[in-house]
Amino acid sequence: MAADLHLHTCFSDGTYTPEELSAHAARLRLHTIALTDHDTTEGCLRAAVACQNLGVEFIAGAELTAEFDGTELHLLGYYLDPLHPKLLRETARFQEVRQNRIREMVERLNRLGIPLTAEAVFALANCRSPGRPHVGRALVRAGFCSSVDEAFDRFLKKDRPAWVPKFKMSAFDGIDLIHAAGGLAVLAHPGLNRVDPAIPRLAEAGLDGLECFHTKHTPATADHYLRLANTHQLLVTGGSDCHGLAKGQPLIGSLRLHEDYVQRLREARRRPLTNNLATA
Ligand code: AMP
Ligand code: FE
Ligand code: FE
Ligand code: ZN
Repeated sequence: MAADLHLHTCFSDGTYTPEELSAHAARLRLHTIALTDHDTTEGCLRAAVACQNLGVEFIAGAELTAEFDGTELHLLGYYLDPLHPKLLRETARFQEVRQNRIREMVERLNRLGIPLTAEAVFALANCRSPGRPHVGRALVRAGFCSSVDEAFDRFLKKDRPAWVPKFKMSAFDGIDLIHAAGGLAVLAHPGLNRVDPAIPRLAEAGLDGLECFHTKHTPATADHYLRLANTHQLLVTGGSDCHGLAKGQPLIGSLRLHEDYVQRLREARRRPLTNNLATA
């Protein structure tokens, strides 16, 4: 029994539909998956239905963009009520911010002599929570870059010419929002954001867990965060952070979280969802 608790679909910057993702999960014999699209829970209802039909346990989630002391960090919410009014209101606000940011990035590209249109990016993204990967894919599709990696390296990475900072909620507000929507708040891929000094403060503020296992964490990084999770009595999660095919292979399931950690997450779950989404 194993789980993958960090997955994206076409409702943010992943390429799979919720049904395709769920089918991969079943084929790879994952016992449990969580959908954690950026700043949206829109794919959760469809994934919950697909997983139920396939006998895969489903956890409704999201990955919220937040900041602590000026540093971006991502908060995973697990067991969210995907229709929670406050969560819907707040995520709608962040989706609008994302859409305006796409327009600004495109304007910057235009000033660099690249005639991409925001409409082309929105058409390709076809979701309410578009991000830089969609701009990258649009640049590739229009022939301005040969790969999304090249698009990031030349234009989209922090401090590159088309990079636009993103308004983020404070990590404290993010934790409170996740709790309000019935969820557990977990700091995503701490090894990628270098936010160790924030962890004691976030733990005090109610952070529930650390994503110790992530495809971009080395074994030493995972060990480091396992120790921190132990020190601060935090839950441990892990996932592939799959956005679709990677090097021609489905990344989903490339990280298999041990059932013991999932069981602790189930036990820590705050309260039953108002609807019947979790197929526990
Ligand atoms: P955004 O949320 O718009 O700032 O975009 C962040 C997303 O871009 C991440 O969740 C990844 O999916 C993707 N990403 C970040 N850095 C890179 C990179 N160097 N190459 C390709 N994709 C990236
Ligand atoms: Fe992403
Ligand atoms: Fe992330
Ligand atoms: Zn992610």
